[in-house]
Amino acid sequence: MPFQSLGLDPALVRAATDKGYVAPTAIQLEAIPAILQGRDVLGAAQTGSGKTAAFSLPLLQRLAREPRQSPRRLLALILVPTRELAAQVGESMRGLAQHLPVPVKIAVAFGGVSINPQMMALRGGADVMIATPGRLLDLIDHRALRLSTVSMLVLDEADRLFDLGFAEELGRILALLPKQRQNLMFSATFPQAIQSLADGLLRDPVRVEVQSEAAEEPAILQRAIEVDAERRTQLLRQLVKDSAWTRVLVFVATKHASEIVADKLRKAGIEAEPFHGLLSQGKRTQVLADFKASRVQVVVATDLAARGIDVAQLPVVVNYDLPRSAVDYVHRIGRTGRAGESGLAVSFVSAATEAHFRLIEKRQGLNVPRERVAGFEPVETAVPAPAGTGGIKGKRPSKKDKLRAAAR
Ligand code: AMP
Repeated sequence: MPFQSLGLDPALVRAATDKGYVAPTAIQLEAIPAILQGRDVLGAAQTGSGKTAAFSLPLLQRLAREPRQSPRRLLALILVPTRELAAQVGESMRGLAQHLPVPVKIAVAFGGVSINPQMMALRGGADVMIATPGRLLDLIDHRALRLSTVSMLVLDEADRLFDLGFAEELGRILALLPKQRQNLMFSATFPQAIQSLADGLLRDPVRVEVQSEAAEEPAILQRAIEVDAERRTQLLRQLVKDSAWTRVLVFVATKHASEIVADKLRKAGIEAEPFHGLLSQGKRTQVLADFKASRVQVVVATDLAARGIDVAQLPVVVNYDLPRSAVDYVHRIGRTGRAGESGLAVSFVSAATEAHFRLIEKRQGLNVPRERVAGFEPVETAVPAPAGTGGIKGKRPSKKDKLRAAAR
């Protein structure tokens, strides 16, 4: 079914087409008509399902039909858990709004950077505010904006808002909103706290669930390559050069490893950048923009920094260091194969990490065949665990071991 038949304005359909969206995803098919009718919506959806456009398109359509006032009144508030997500939703929404006959002013705010430019941007008001909860409250405290005119509220990735400790801020924000409004809430999981929030917030919501649909399941090919720890950078270099991987997200265990591996790849003539929590927000935004624009081919990231990275057409994820847990493994490989595209997840496994990888496979019910690459056959053997330690067999590298390995 094409976008036109969802009741969307031709200017929005054109913007979706410009972005390369040919047909609506499952969540868009269900959520867009319901939101256009003014219904509250509860969406069970992961990042990658197309949920941003599912709420942005109808939200923009409703806003475009509201009479404009000067200064602008804030009509829609979108709360997100992380800076990266705020920036991404802002970028996506601006793209979708670009052909609307009456311009919609979209403001984005998040912590970790100076508040002044964000306050300046709010001069003259804004129609839409996309923000992390803490910074939104700071802006309200600075009298840079008020919430009394908001008629649409979106909670995006509600479970992560709670995971990241924003429950109290959320309560304060909800108390500042007018009672009469449309509420949209999206979450990948529904633990008790999220279910209670939904029960209290939403009125007779339309429930939209897409997780289990086979059509939405991304096709991710998983590979495990056996290689000695100290030869991983060389192998990575060879794979990046030989495999025509256009865009690669590499996961490492530490900020230090992120710097070192990126540096070694750069010395080998590959456009690579580190991405971790010690970099300034400006630098992180720049790296992501360069990655998206294909000016950077490889981003070497730590887990924390990689949360919320959403790059369309990210064909390859490499686990240079294995993730600590099976859940992290799923989260990492889920960075690829989004919105129905196929993806490839490559894990480097050494004698020391083989047992750990087996544990991840067991927890996830996987069986990833081990491969070897000619010229990189491992020579290390696992060191048996000292008697009585139990748990995983083989020596797990300590932080120091990993740093040493990365520095080689
Ligand atoms: P999201 O779940 O909103 O993070 O979206 C995941 C990715 O899917 C983003 O890169 C979107 O640009 C892309 N996307 C959203 N809707 C569509 C669509 N209808 N067709 C193709 N790609 C889409």
